[in-house]
Amino acid sequence: MKCRRCKGSAVIKMPRHNTAFCDPCFQEYLLKQVAKAISSGKMFSKDAPVLVAVSGGKDSLALWDILIKLGYETVGLHLNLGIGTYSETSQKMVEKFANARGLELIFHSYQESYGLGVVQIAKESARPACSACGTMKRHHFNRIAMEKGFPVVATGHNLDDEAARLLGNLLKWQVSYLEKQSPVLSDDDGLWAKKVKPLYRLPEREIAAYTILNRIDYIVEECPMSKGAKTFTYKETLNQLEEASPGAKHQFYLGFLKQKETSFPTPPPANIENTCLSCGQPSMGDQCGYCRLIERATAVS
Ligand code: AMP
Ligand code: ZN
Repeated sequence: MKCRRCKGSAVIKMPRHNTAFCDPCFQEYLLKQVAKAISSGKMFSKDAPVLVAVSGGKDSLALWDILIKLGYETVGLHLNLGIGTYSETSQKMVEKFANARGLELIFHSYQESYGLGVVQIAKESARPACSACGTMKRHHFNRIAMEKGFPVVATGHNLDDEAARLLGNLLKWQVSYLEKQSPVLSDDDGLWAKKVKPLYRLPEREIAAYTILNRIDYIVEECPMSKGAKTFTYKETLNQLEEASPGAKHQFYLGFLKQKETSFPTPPPANIENTCLSCGQPSMGDQCGYCRLIERATAVS
């Protein structure tokens, strides 16, 4: 198998582009895809530092590595969710990556803040674990970014994540969620840091190849709380489609983004006019979802 660009020995086959690349040509292609996502989405520039949310998994560590290679100023943010050895290993992976490169890293530990990990917080507040975890993560990404003066938070969501989420929203016809599904979420009121997903053009398989070629060590284990999550079924289904019809995932998600730009009705203004009386973050009412969650969790325990 030969690289289509340089005719060297190829290391990865890319059925969706009907091509194959050698190591350097693949990496060049990959970096270009991320650079394209950043510039076409006007995600951020080199003038201000980017807060990169790093879980210890392959996507967010690959993202951090790529942003550094592209010349962006970055600081990592890791939330220790307090899920036993899974969280310990995740944190170790992030530390190892940052230490090896001399990068700045911000930590936040749920256990230290509340005396509870996310599993107990979910249980005590009678919320499904993944939903409570999502509320907590969104709150901390935004809160830490705003407090420390980062205008942008970047996450490692990839094409598979976004396509699976889209499929889930469509299967349930959660139309109101479609408008919010975007690789760039900005806020003109200055209450939220901009949230961006620079890897949205890249499938998981290509990011995995990038981490192997760059010897990036990451936590392979999935979060134990996510066992049986529907997302895995959606991803599997999309992988079957991709196998039968290379490029299907890209067409599905990027086609959606294009349609949204051209033919979706203008969304009504976001109904967030208040700030939470407890934490000061944007909220629909006097108390935000995060503060309700924590109040219930800590009241019982
Ligand atoms: P997930 O929702 O677990 O698929 O993660 C999606 C993205 O959220 C990751 O690529 C990271 O950018 C970010 N993220 C998830 N978990 C954490 C964490 N514990 N600390 C910091 N960032 C995280
Ligand atoms: Zn609040």
